[in-house]
Amino acid sequence: MRLICVDCGHTHPPALSYACEACGGILEVQGESGLEPPREVALLASMWRHAGRLCINDPANIVSLGEGLTPMRRAPRIEAALPGFHGEVWLKDETRNPSGSFKDRLVSAGIGKALELGARGVICASSGNAGASTAAYAARAGMPAIIVVPAHTPAGKLTQIAAYGAILLLVEGHYSRSYDLALGLARQAGFANLTTTFLNPWAVDALKLTGLEIFEQLGRVAPSHVLIPTGSGPLVKGVAQGFTETGATPKLVAVQAEGCAPIVRAFEAGAEAVTAWDTPRTIASGISDPLIGYERDGSYTLKLVRRSGGLAVSVSDAALRDAMRDLARLEGVYAEPTGASPLAALRRLLAEGRMPPDARAVCMITGHGFKDGAAFADMPARTHRVADPADVAAVARLCDHAMAEQG
Ligand SMILES: [Zn+2]
Repeated sequence: MRLICVDCGHTHPPALSYACEACGGILEVQGESGLEPPREVALLASMWRHAGRLCINDPANIVSLGEGLTPMRRAPRIEAALPGFHGEVWLKDETRNPSGSFKDRLVSAGIGKALELGARGVICASSGNAGASTAAYAARAGMPAIIVVPAHTPAGKLTQIAAYGAILLLVEGHYSRSYDLALGLARQAGFANLTTTFLNPWAVDALKLTGLEIFEQLGRVAPSHVLIPTGSGPLVKGVAQGFTETGATPKLVAVQAEGCAPIVRAFEAGAEAVTAWDTPRTIASGISDPLIGYERDGSYTLKLVRRSGGLAVSVSDAALRDAMRDLARLEGVYAEPTGASPLAALRRLLAEGRMPPDARAVCMITGHGFKDGAAFADMPARTHRVADPADVAAVARLCDHAMAEQG
């Protein structure tokens, strides 16, 4: 195994390297460990059933909490609620990962490789989910962890990171400021940097299994579209890479929030280079990434989206709330705003005729609603205070009334 620059092709030895020495470009893993499939039942029920496809050489370095191999379910009630739609909607339920987001896939691979390469600890700049994941896996591995997040990160995510016992640093301002601090701290402390932009090639490499999983779970038939919440975009790369290996060619849809959409802006302008976003403002904390200082991550993602024949689209906070509500109330899926963004995008693209009504679409539901309960708090709910629980008849009338109101 070695690392290779996606921009200039310069190769590097397998080390804790985060950028091309020749051009500063994004590094990716070339080669695979070739490990035998694990014998442990718990590992076989995780992405590590494909251990040979990943980057860990010594099975003793695998740090697993049961990540990957998440459910894929068709969403018939959502399909029925889409006007004129006669295709298929599938939900790839990444909320079911151990810490509640798809980041567990990256972190499990990245922390194992950090162990293998002799790191003393791990550090991660995060908008919350990757931080929670890193803290969880560091606890499992018995490694010290430092997590750097924007001070305005949703409380549920902060609580989760703190619960796992990591050192949690709150930084005022947008995500890119946390990103910069983590770069400096990792160098100073000699810790591995697990920040889940394109920074850590060993972590990003694991996401290729996501594309493979989708293909297998659809019965080895390709979807027409995969809709992916997109900050800097490693998940876009992972899905693209996984499908390339199968020979399938779904169109990839990078979904961003209107209040932070640097990749969508470049896509719509027909530009090759993505420029940073000044002032992110959206309830979708997971994709609120202005890319300041690592704009080339966005440009790379945009290139992959175009190569797939796909597109980039943004959605409003109001559309995100509608999508969150419908996922919960029509399909029983509790997703944070970022995780609901693919459904919001699907709706917009169908309404604008930019996606055919017979599409076979996969929505990547990337993060759990438990992480950001406040985002649901202002939604109309059917909650009633019971004055006298002994008066069953009165409570039954109240319920009848409430059911009639909702129709
Ligand atoms: Zn290079």
